[in-house]
Amino acid sequence: MSPPAEKLTVRDGEPVDLVIRGATVLDPGAGIEGPHDIVIRDGEIAELAAPGSGAEDGVEVIEAEGLHAFPAFFDPHVHLRAPGQEHKEDIETGTRAAAAGGFCGIIAMANTEPPVCDATDVEALHDRARTEASVPAGFVATVTRGMRGEELTDMAELRDAGAIGFSDDGLPIRSARIMRRALQYQRLCGGLIALHEEDPDLSGEGVMHEGAVSALLGLSGIPSISESTMIARDAAIAAYEEARIHVQHLSAVESVEAVRDAKSGGVQISSEATPHHLCLTDEAVRGLDASRHKMNPPLRAEADRQALIEGLRDGTIDCIATDHAPHVAEEKEVPFEAAMMGVTGLETAFAAIHTHLVGSGVLPLSLVVEKLGCGGEPFGVPRASLAPGSPANVALCDLEACWVVGEGGYESRSFNSWCAGEQLRGQVKMTVAAGQVAYRLRSFSMGVA
Ligand SMILES: [Zn+2]
Ligand SMILES: [Zn+2]
Repeated sequence: MSPPAEKLTVRDGEPVDLVIRGATVLDPGAGIEGPHDIVIRDGEIAELAAPGSGAEDGVEVIEAEGLHAFPAFFDPHVHLRAPGQEHKEDIETGTRAAAAGGFCGIIAMANTEPPVCDATDVEALHDRARTEASVPAGFVATVTRGMRGEELTDMAELRDAGAIGFSDDGLPIRSARIMRRALQYQRLCGGLIALHEEDPDLSGEGVMHEGAVSALLGLSGIPSISESTMIARDAAIAAYEEARIHVQHLSAVESVEAVRDAKSGGVQISSEATPHHLCLTDEAVRGLDASRHKMNPPLRAEADRQALIEGLRDGTIDCIATDHAPHVAEEKEVPFEAAMMGVTGLETAFAAIHTHLVGSGVLPLSLVVEKLGCGGEPFGVPRASLAPGSPANVALCDLEACWVVGEGGYESRSFNSWCAGEQLRGQVKMTVAAGQVAYRLRSFSMGVA
């Protein structure tokens, strides 16, 4: 028996007919690279035609010469803040931000108010997504009741209700005994367990990476081993139980090594890294706007950033995830030590990585497109493809366009972007998600056949 399709929910809408004319198509997974007309019929990629030949009567044509078309991206780590903190974000604004970033799907974390612990919570979120979500959304439920780390949720019931997986993200699972039991249940009922790896005893009251910069600033630090020792522990438990784990937001060289060792030892482990950890170091905390760079795990040293880049290259890190974590201004525009941890990232993920890492030749464009695109795979969601016959999920990007983050506002309800005010090169012009037009940049004009 094949496993059931993982549940993602999107707003009901009309499947689109569209011709994207003359774009440079790059789909590393399908081995497609070159100029094509992408003919979308009834929400499906019908054909990749020779440039200029794909027009059809009465069908809208997007003039895309000079633009790049990628399989749209998938973010397995988003905080939509619903239910309970809709002043920060909700399903509508969060998925709109995702669409604006070229994403055709996201997975929302469960550390809401209250946390997503019961089947009715999961069902309510899918119901809301059906009327609010611009792109398909999946929802994890918590591993432990109330995220208190003491008692497991009813994982089988939550799976039946449509939980795509489980995570106590925001908090680690402190008890090895609870972790072990969760993995025993996960083997029975499916659904990946995604882990925020942190030893609270080692993190203590830390507010930034423990290193030269924290010493200079006189701030208490979060050591790298706070993350890596927990990864090693959970990899060992997963190996023992023959279960699968997904490690969220890797930040440190020791963590990359722990995942690499586990993978080479045959552990079923996948991992992600965020754009901000790939692009910045703790030096950013020395700047005037330090609170904008406060997150957990913290920005670490240059050697850590280099290790993450190497991890992407050698496959230790499976995907790029934003950990989009909206907060309102009052929680961020305060002294560094008092500021909330977390930054937004959906709208800037591609542009920031393109600017910082592709533009400078550190990473090839095709690898970035692949790593932004495959984040659903650990959870059983196949990556988008531009091959004919696939559901239409397209991110149309102008790699030359320069824009200043935040200048035109945000689709997200919150403004705590880690790269606010920065000029980025590369801009998403349009996103097709699940066969529907999910986003068009306001200034992006289009022709009609
Ligand atoms: Zn986390
Ligand atoms: Zn998170």
